[in-house]
Amino acid sequence: MIDLAGGGERVSVLIAGAGPVGLLLAAELQRRGVSCKLIDARQGPLHWDRATVIHPRSLESLASLGLIDRFLEAGTKQRAVKIYSGGQLLGTLDLSECGSAYGFNLGLSEETTESILSDYLCAMGGTVHRSTRLVGANVHDDGVVAEIEQDGDRYRVQAEWIVGCDGAHSPTRELSGIVLEGHDITQPWAVFDASIAGWTDDFELNVGYLDSVPVILTSLPERRWRVYLRPRSAESDLVDDALSTVRQYAASASFIDVANPTRFHCSSKVASRFRSGRVLLAGDAAHLCSPAQGHGMNTGLQDAFNLAWKLALVCRGVADSTLLDSYDVERRPVAEMVARSGDMTDFGEMLTDPAERRERDSAIRATFAGSASRHNEIVAETELNVDYSASPIVLAGAGSALAAGQRVPDTITVRSAGHTLVLCGDATAEDSGFASLLDALRKVVDGSSVFEAVVSLGTADLLDGRGSTTLLAVRPDGYIGMRSERDHLAALERYQELVTARPSAIAT
Ligand SMILES: Cc1cc2nc3c(=O)[nH]c(=O)nc-3n(C[C@H](O)[C@H](O)[C@H](O)COP(=O)(O)OP(=O)(O)OC[C@H]3O[C@@H](n4cnc5c(N)ncnc54)[C@H](O)[C@@H]3O)c2cc1C
Repeated sequence: MIDLAGGGERVSVLIAGAGPVGLLLAAELQRRGVSCKLIDARQGPLHWDRATVIHPRSLESLASLGLIDRFLEAGTKQRAVKIYSGGQLLGTLDLSECGSAYGFNLGLSEETTESILSDYLCAMGGTVHRSTRLVGANVHDDGVVAEIEQDGDRYRVQAEWIVGCDGAHSPTRELSGIVLEGHDITQPWAVFDASIAGWTDDFELNVGYLDSVPVILTSLPERRWRVYLRPRSAESDLVDDALSTVRQYAASASFIDVANPTRFHCSSKVASRFRSGRVLLAGDAAHLCSPAQGHGMNTGLQDAFNLAWKLALVCRGVADSTLLDSYDVERRPVAEMVARSGDMTDFGEMLTDPAERRERDSAIRATFAGSASRHNEIVAETELNVDYSASPIVLAGAGSALAAGQRVPDTITVRSAGHTLVLCGDATAEDSGFASLLDALRKVVDGSSVFEAVVSLGTADLLDGRGSTTLLAVRPDGYIGMRSERDHLAALERYQELVTARPSAIAT
């Protein structure tokens, strides 16, 4: 650590920004015994709501923290996505086909998401230091000296790492010199909350209307809707604008109890790097996308899940800091994919030429009608299409089902803060060596800082290579880090070396 002349508070990790991403990251570091300080410039949480859609992949991750009941109690299920244009239904995505136990998006205000995550942080022994702003940072090879302003006073905090979860205008990003690459979305957006009198369809929906005033409806608890639209002009009445579209489908519809009509601009940008030495970026500080698909916060939450276990291993001295490079390698392509797909949706929404709109509509019809293409849309919508097989810290075995880099299905429970070893195979076959391997794995876990739990499936049903005993090392973020079909302990040793960049001695 740097010697800080004049003293100053010392922490392992300083997190700037207590939005959903900073809250989750801080809680996950605390859970792993890493001291961190979470600061936020604001006096209290934001009450103006933004993210309303939590996708199944995020729900799975929240379930792994034991938080799912609170989220499900608070939110409303959006079981399908329907896309309309020119008065007609182009297609429906039934989210129960996504392959997760959570076959729906959850409609919930970001304010409630933050409140649940704040409680979780508190339960892990953490807190948010409010009215506390990052104003400067001196980054060295071995740490960061951050300048903090609180109630008009300035003081310094010495941290081994700083993570910028400080949103679109991220001061951490600015201070580190990392640039955002991409473009502003020129057509403005607008949003308001309302109930709809005269609604004739189901309430558990996301609905997209691709008409001259594009409108997206996402359902919220108590039969409220969050209404997104592209307003006609800078002065137009937002409710009239949205109604002009919705009435093409529900003639007697009207918006009642309208709340918070707001216009806003957004961007489609990704940071050139998610890590620069001792500085890391996550959430909106690292990537911005069109709100059309509701991926912004969800992508940020997955950043936090990906980063927390890695940063904890580094802070605890178990892994070399090169492990953090895999955070950039794994998460930046996801952010780029989300930004690209948001751009395409945005572009399609704003088409005005009748021929181009017809072409767009028939492409959507065809995509939603074909079972393979519809499935691709469903897994993209639900964020179950993320795959880290190209990551440098993934050790692949044979087989395509449950391959290394894929998300582990939620039929396998992963709850531990460290890796879970999952042994699949025929436990009853006498010569399989299943029982003795299971025993050996329990011993590995006993003395390990990387592997924490062992799960025995005693069946090969989930695998394509039936019969052979297969070992999976499932990472704390729910992705398969290693798959082996033979020489399991040696494979585990290689995997641990890959993750920690330190010698290990599992097989001996
Ligand atoms: C209208 C709208 C609708 C959206 N809908 C969805 C949706 O349905 N689904 C979805 O996934 N996403 C959605 N998003 C995106 C989502 O709101 C963001 O991606 C999400 O809030 C990002 O969370 P974050 O924690 O990264 O940043 P933020 O929530 O922006 O938090 C950043 C925090 O950093 C703090 N901060 C800033 N500067 C400093 C400083 N110098 N020192 C200390 N603290 C600082 C701020 O006070 C703030 O609390 C939507 C966005 C908009 C605008």
